[in-house]
Amino acid sequence: MNYNLNLNAIDLYPEIMNIYGDRGNMLYFKYRASLYGITVNIGSCSIGEKFDTDKTDIMFIGGGQDSEQALIYKDFITNKKNALKDAKDAGKIMLSICGGYQLLLNYYKTLDNKIIEGISIFDGYTAAEPKKPRLTGNIASAFKDKIIVGFENHSGRTYLSESQQNFGKVLFGFGNNGVDKTEGAISNNFYGTYMHGSILPKNFQFCDIIIDTAVKNKYKIALNEIIKKNNINIDNNFEINARKDIRDLKKIINRTI
Ligand code: GLN
Repeated sequence: MNYNLNLNAIDLYPEIMNIYGDRGNMLYFKYRASLYGITVNIGSCSIGEKFDTDKTDIMFIGGGQDSEQALIYKDFITNKKNALKDAKDAGKIMLSICGGYQLLLNYYKTLDNKIIEGISIFDGYTAAEPKKPRLTGNIASAFKDKIIVGFENHSGRTYLSESQQNFGKVLFGFGNNGVDKTEGAISNNFYGTYMHGSILPKNFQFCDIIIDTAVKNKYKIALNEIIKKNNINIDNNFEINARKDIRDLKKIINRTI
């Protein structure tokens, strides 16, 4: 099945920012789009490289340790910041996870008081607070009418500015800081989240939202129209069953799917 719909994805620093197999998100995005007859080309952009916003539909950055964030943040500011700001303003899509998400905020203050500057796509900051435990475990949040699930593991606590929209309300787990029940951030079609594990395969409906945005942006067609026109029927049982098996989240998932 191929209706000549093509999307270009860019994975940023794939060899550095790929903790917990976050790259699996790109692979699932490609796989799921293929079920709708959409071809996804995945390119990469690492240290010293730039990418062309006009030719890119979706950008992705995974999580990383503090040391990995420290390794790339200057390049992120020099070589990626302007392109990402243009992409955001143009309504393109970005998914950023954990350490990558922190780099899209204003800054991250590490435990040893080093400042890792971000690119201020999202208005807020992250601080690793001394003597506080890491925020680790399975997590669920409410995004629109959907329950998003994942796994989080971060020492940084993120505080969004009042005007910054979050990505979801925490139903289980910690989210941005373990206190205010917010998870992640959204600006236009840019998403930041603490959910690893990976977020797209576990949340196929969210993956569909992203595919829908991408085909609307590029081809002015909604995913639903593609589905109807071509009589596409996707079996989501594998994904639904995988969600049902997540430890700690059984009650929440069973209630909602
Ligand atoms: N270094 C960051 C923190 O611990 C991000 C870690 C990650 O991406 N899992 O807060």
